[in-house]
Amino acid sequence: MSFQLFSRFPRFFHFFACLLIAIPIFSYVSAVPAPADGVRNPNNKLKITPSFTSESNGDVSGIQSGSPDLSGPPRTGKIKYHGGFVNTGTIDIYYIYYGSWSSADRSTLDFLMNNIGSTGYTKILASYNDGNNKSLSGNVRLAGTFLDNYSVGKSITDNTMVNVVSNAIKKAQWPADPGAVYFILGSSDVNHTSGFCSDFCGFHTFDTIHGADIKYAFVGDPTKCLDGCAPLYANSISPNNNPGIDGMASIIMHEMVESITDGDYDAWFDDFDYEMADKCVWNFGGSTFIKPARNGALYNLDVGQNQYLVQLLWHRTKQCRLTA
Ligand SMILES: [Zn+2]
Repeated sequence: MSFQLFSRFPRFFHFFACLLIAIPIFSYVSAVPAPADGVRNPNNKLKITPSFTSESNGDVSGIQSGSPDLSGPPRTGKIKYHGGFVNTGTIDIYYIYYGSWSSADRSTLDFLMNNIGSTGYTKILASYNDGNNKSLSGNVRLAGTFLDNYSVGKSITDNTMVNVVSNAIKKAQWPADPGAVYFILGSSDVNHTSGFCSDFCGFHTFDTIHGADIKYAFVGDPTKCLDGCAPLYANSISPNNNPGIDGMASIIMHEMVESITDGDYDAWFDDFDYEMADKCVWNFGGSTFIKPARNGALYNLDVGQNQYLVQLLWHRTKQCRLTA
């Protein structure tokens, strides 16, 4: 169970760091208490893939047989509802582009979020429901973007990321919406001190910000660790001609659906604390779905006129799926 033990520390650290540091300094930011049972151990960080090597690059049939040997408990058990909040409306997604971003890279990720709702991919969310048995809509939209020019430096921490989100909501005049998901997207020179590129590729969490229970996530550009966070693009081309950005596309989808279905760590997860994207992590569908893009890179999903490679998502009854 080293997988679970390993992920226990960051949450522990996060909780206490917020209590000790964030409250006294920023009165409008306060920590959210740990889940009532106090022992929930969310797999909130998307771990780097441990054994997905670049040998499968370009070999479509090899990808399926070379699927990653993920450590930890089996991921095939039923995912269950634990009573927490889920938003059944259209989900507003906010992007905070942190650091140095080209307009081309931003448009790759903007386009994905603006159009993913029409593909059937996010409709997998509609297999989940809230406490009144109402299904999620499966609709998402990019509700706003904001550029942050290194407001807390090149190394973001569990503490300072709260301030990045708080600042963006204030400066961009976004609503503090408990039903939305706010992303901090780090450029390739931005680190997260909890272990970006060495331990994880992205994660989602929550805190009270501007008086609301805000769900937010960090996803960095993994150009420095493509082997771990964008395995099919290590030493290879990618459909939108930037392997780091194309790698982020899948990680953003991962953290987005988990923020939607388990934003407070008390809604949808299985007996091993795997959330809906964890259960299919690094599974791109093998030769059934992976095909050559226009530029020869590998991809699995047409989104408007763009092409992306995104991991499959756990459908509540149909298991790992690319579309509902
Ligand atoms: Zn996850």
